[in-house]
Amino acid sequence: MKKSSIIGVLILCFAFWGKAQVRNEIRVPDPEGYRTLKCDFHIHTVFSDGLVWPTVRVDEAYREGLDAIALTEHLEYRPHRQDIIASHNRSYEIAEKTARNNQVILIRGSEITRPMAPGHFNAIFLSDCDALEQKEYMDSFKAARRQNAFIFWNHPGWDRQQPDTTLWWNEHTRLYEEGYMQGIEVANGKKYSPEAQRWCMEKKLTMIGTSDIHQPIQTDIDFARGQHRTMTFVFVRERSAEGIREALLHRRTAVYMDEKVIAEEQWLKELFEKSIDIEDIKRNEKSIVITLKNNSDLTFHLKKTRHNPGLVYFREYTIQPQCRHRIEIRLENNLQGGDINFEITNLYAAPNKGLTYSYKV
Ligand code: ZN
Repeated sequence: MKKSSIIGVLILCFAFWGKAQVRNEIRVPDPEGYRTLKCDFHIHTVFSDGLVWPTVRVDEAYREGLDAIALTEHLEYRPHRQDIIASHNRSYEIAEKTARNNQVILIRGSEITRPMAPGHFNAIFLSDCDALEQKEYMDSFKAARRQNAFIFWNHPGWDRQQPDTTLWWNEHTRLYEEGYMQGIEVANGKKYSPEAQRWCMEKKLTMIGTSDIHQPIQTDIDFARGQHRTMTFVFVRERSAEGIREALLHRRTAVYMDEKVIAEEQWLKELFEKSIDIEDIKRNEKSIVITLKNNSDLTFHLKKTRHNPGLVYFREYTIQPQCRHRIEIRLENNLQGGDINFEITNLYAAPNKGLTYSYKV
């Protein structure tokens, strides 16, 4: 082989090596007319109290199959400031090129970090984070709204700020009524807040789930055991920052935390139905056997609810991701069929309450 061709091969190898990062897609169905994006709108880097460089956050997101992230540094809490003196826009600016190269949508954001009340809020889709650095918290919110930000309340049940019960304060009423709050974190890291879900349902606010990651992601999440970070599924019309913003404003989200999906009932129902393919139904006088396939990465825990006692079927049943299952229903009392009723206990349509579902056989 000629020397020049050896060099050529080497260059090619390095070129592929540079692109070798693996992406693990998260398979979740798209609701009718929309596309499901996986997003994390609450992330820290060394530019506030996080422990990693901004571009690493993009690499992590790419590897985990995320579509969009926001780096949301604390405005008022910067423990590394002896070493890092920078504008509040800096982590976004540093990550921008890596995000573009990996087709990860990067959204500019900041965390307004105040004592309770009002506590911590993320403002995303900002154009200038520095304008939010203000003495009075209301001035930070006003600056965010002037930039047309989407603003959500972070971890309302954080025990360092609400040690006993998760309360809604007068300050929140004001922010909500004056249009400074469009969503609430229903899940932050591994903490689910039933109060936040109830408030979102009552007040028509957007449900958000985030990692609020400070460490390198693999310190908190054991990917080898199939774990994933807490995230928001956003049902968009188009895959862009503007598409995400439109969906958030119209409350088209679901929160994905461990095996739980938390959302308005319509989204849960559609995610379930579109995940499951009924491949075959075999009947005789004594039984009905259904073969189904779960094409998604979601797990479904089914639990029997009130039903005609002539239909004898499972009490509890788990449908694993990407698996085929057989469900047998015995027919008694000369029944030909009927409704099998169950609760999908890990799809939260209401605080701590699973989605009720019926299927006619
Ligand atoms: Zn935070």
